[in-house]
Amino acid sequence: MTTTTASPIELLIEGGPPPNGRFGPYGGRFAPETLTSILDRLEEKTEHLFADAEFMTALEAELADFVGRPTPLTPAPALGSRWGAEVYLKREDLCHTGAHKINNAIGQALIARELGVERIVAETGAGQHGVATAAASARVGLPCTIFMGAIDARRQRPNLERMRLLGAEVILVEAGDQTLRAAIDEAFRAWVADPAGTYYLLGSVVGPHPYPWLVRQLQAVIGREARRQTISAAGDLPDVAVACVGGGSNAIGLFHGFIADSDVELLGIEAGGGGRPGESHSATLGAGTTGVLHGAMSALLQDEHGQILETHSIAPGLDYPGVGPEHALLRDLGRATYESVTDDEAIDALNECGSQEGILPALESSHALAGARRWAGSHPGGRIVVGLSGRGDKDLQIINGEVPHD
Ligand SMILES: *Cc1c(COP(=O)(O)O)cnc(C)c1O
Repeated sequence: MTTTTASPIELLIEGGPPPNGRFGPYGGRFAPETLTSILDRLEEKTEHLFADAEFMTALEAELADFVGRPTPLTPAPALGSRWGAEVYLKREDLCHTGAHKINNAIGQALIARELGVERIVAETGAGQHGVATAAASARVGLPCTIFMGAIDARRQRPNLERMRLLGAEVILVEAGDQTLRAAIDEAFRAWVADPAGTYYLLGSVVGPHPYPWLVRQLQAVIGREARRQTISAAGDLPDVAVACVGGGSNAIGLFHGFIADSDVELLGIEAGGGGRPGESHSATLGAGTTGVLHGAMSALLQDEHGQILETHSIAPGLDYPGVGPEHALLRDLGRATYESVTDDEAIDALNECGSQEGILPALESSHALAGARRWAGSHPGGRIVVGLSGRGDKDLQIINGEVPHD
């Protein structure tokens, strides 16, 4: 028995479930009583499976053979010479279904199968998490039901069709705001109605404990690979790792590879929206206050009465009023910093990466690129790893102004 207490950062590095389900003052479990035993069982089972060689071998096989890992770390010399930096792109856009979300979806689908549930439920906003969940559920042989707001479904028709072709039942939610928030309510209701037979597959490092920890452990593969690949390509660690932050899963996954390397800066980029004072945005860590949303305490965008504020981003995956509790802790500890870039800056970065490197990034990932370019401006010659969370093909209609993005 050791009597020294681990520091908050040491606890994060260890990788086990956070004590009491808390990241400092954040996280926790603000969920109905009926779910307590289900969430306890999920934590217990997951901790057991993550330590089980047979399960981990099966997970690694799926990551290699189904997802396509390891994803490359691509040097970006054209961006580097324009920015005056050494730039590497961690290519999650090359994952099956086009983004990092499948790392989490396949991991949780395997856990669901081990739990012996009869079906998977999930919600989706723009459809990316729904597509990843549909693909992962089909892969492990479990039926899945995806709840999607009716307005979102009209805006994201191709993703709706993709989910159905992947065998998912998609339920369009006509209630409430008919977007992500209403879809979350309905998915939650379906879960509470049959918690033992249903697995709720959450798409980011948010929600009640153990999800923020569980999803982080599944996305940490991004950072593990990126660290090894940067050392192999550059002979040393990067000066900074940069990623976009919606719920925060691709960022926490990248950051965890470097969290013990105190010389490596961690920079999260939130969506600044239109960027003018008084306009809505999704810069939760930069502008939010502490409160409870979707089962956890974290930073969130709310008014003085606790009403959730309207958010906006041109990137559908960043348009969320909350953020993962671990990011709020990393911010408070000063281990990571968070900035925001505007819609226009993200579009510029998308054009630059597409035309200069031959890689079309997602609008979300373009926020990380714009943030990296800004960082390079004040750190000449610096070595940068950018988390390229997804590919931009899904965003063509938004970029061309064919669908409203708010
Ligand atoms: C969903 C999504 C995001 C935002 O989610 P995080 O949990 O913050 O990673 C970022 N990039 C892409 C491509 C996405 O699809």
